[in-house]
Amino acid sequence: MPNDPDCVFCKIVAGVIPCAKLLDEEHALAFLDIGPVAPGHALLIPRDHYETMDTMPPDAAAAMFRRLPALVKAVRAVTGCEGVNVLQNNGAIAGQVVPHVHVHVIPREPAGRFSFNWPAGQYEKGQIDSLARAIRERLSQGEMQ
Ligand code: 5GP
Ligand code: ZN
Repeated sequence: MPNDPDCVFCKIVAGVIPCAKLLDEEHALAFLDIGPVAPGHALLIPRDHYETMDTMPPDAAAAMFRRLPALVKAVRAVTGCEGVNVLQNNGAIAGQVVPHVHVHVIPREPAGRFSFNWPAGQYEKGQIDSLARAIRERLSQGEMQ
């Protein structure tokens, strides 16, 4: 898939916009986020332009994600953080601002600025089974391939 000339991350891939590079591989690139929510906040992206995770071919996703454990390990070791959030936003409603798939690697400290709410709910009777069945059926139809 050709890179999108209007996309800020495609410009980073092409070297038109500089970045603090961490990994430079055939299918993936990692660099520090320019607006870090914590020092060491990193982004892992595919070199090719895909807007959201669900549009990525499995092989392209695998080629990007294979470097995620090493990136998390390196960020953790260098920052000395207590924990790490791996976050991936799809769509504006989910907080995605840059429409080129990216995985946030966010170091966490007790006194850090970044936090989020986890408003756990409950299913109504039967809802969990019907939802699980519908998603299973969709997966078995190959919709996600
Ligand atoms: P999103 O909200 O789309 O999940 O996250 C986009 C991230 O990209 C933001 O955290 C933002 O700081 C980062 N970002 C946007 N433009 C640039 C840029 O030109 N360079 C770098 N390194 N990060 C960027
Ligand atoms: Zn792009």
